[in-house]
Amino acid sequence: MIDPFGRHISYLRVSVTDRCDFRCMYCMPEHMTFLPKPDVLTLEELERLCMAFVRMGVERLRITGGEPLVRRDVMKLFQGLGRHIGKSNLKEVTLTTNGSQLTRFARDLASAGVRRVNISLDTRDTGIFRTITRWGDLNKVLDGIDAADAAGLAVKINTVALKGVNEDEIADLMLWAHGRGFDHTLIETMPMGEIDGDRVDQYLPLSLVRARLARDFTLEDSPYRTGGPARYVRVKETGGRLGFITPLTHNFCESCNRVRLTCTGTLYMCLGQEDAADLRKPLRASSDDTLLERAIETAIARKPKGHDFIIDRRHPAPALERSMSVTGG
Ligand code: SAM
Repeated sequence: MIDPFGRHISYLRVSVTDRCDFRCMYCMPEHMTFLPKPDVLTLEELERLCMAFVRMGVERLRITGGEPLVRRDVMKLFQGLGRHIGKSNLKEVTLTTNGSQLTRFARDLASAGVRRVNISLDTRDTGIFRTITRWGDLNKVLDGIDAADAAGLAVKINTVALKGVNEDEIADLMLWAHGRGFDHTLIETMPMGEIDGDRVDQYLPLSLVRARLARDFTLEDSPYRTGGPARYVRVKETGGRLGFITPLTHNFCESCNRVRLTCTGTLYMCLGQEDAADLRKPLRASSDDTLLERAIETAIARKPKGHDFIIDRRHPAPALERSMSVTGG
């Protein structure tokens, strides 16, 4: 699949549920309205959709949400998809999770063929963790991280940089992650969805974080890529990799290779634009995939050049109404 700007689309992110057991302050309001259950695709439908993308050239699938591991029987989807790794275009199935359910599922994920997981962790301070996630339990997440490591999964820690919340802890988090042998990636907060607080107050440009880290650490540019938008440095003092995802300070759309599917079968060709294609209708219209594949082709043909996120006092409203938990981060 090649889009109008010549980019090969080889990466699909799939949000299997918009529900979550956390209420992270930058992601959703505490009293969130979720999608109506009947609109949500079954696990069988999600697998069929994913495999249509794989036949059309997708090599990497990332399962996300909401919190993917709170969806009932989600392991069946991992098992179903895992069977195709290496036997089709599909090279890998990965997961983005808040870690809260990993003590239960880490081994099953490894047995299903998952090799890498991204675990979101913005702080290792119990009080700050509670402030950020509202409902989360830090110890459960840390146990989940240990379980993933013990199951042989390659762990990457993702941290959203938040002004006045975790900004003083970023170097410590990096030292901890690298000490455990994990890659660590920092993310800028993006203006998606209504939240209870003020995004301008939360926004911390990673250019600033990087400059601060560079005072104490030697950051060497690295050509390493995982197929995602992060740009990496090697931190000489720790020997670990540190990634920066900078949708605001440095737009990375020129190399975008991905599209995003929601749990209701809506395909977003860009995380930061409203245009979307309904794939549920062609999926349910026939058991043959001809209509579905045509709908996917038409959607890819209108993938936009990029997003235009801005966060400042003149643009206090979210760039998009839908939150990251719907499109899948
Ligand atoms: N529940 C899973 C998790 O916590 O990783 C998967 C979904 S969550 C939406 C994926 C990632 O998006 C998390 O790392 C989260 O911190 C991040 N995220 C959510 N809203 C965001 C926003 N507005 N800006 C930047 N990152 C955001």
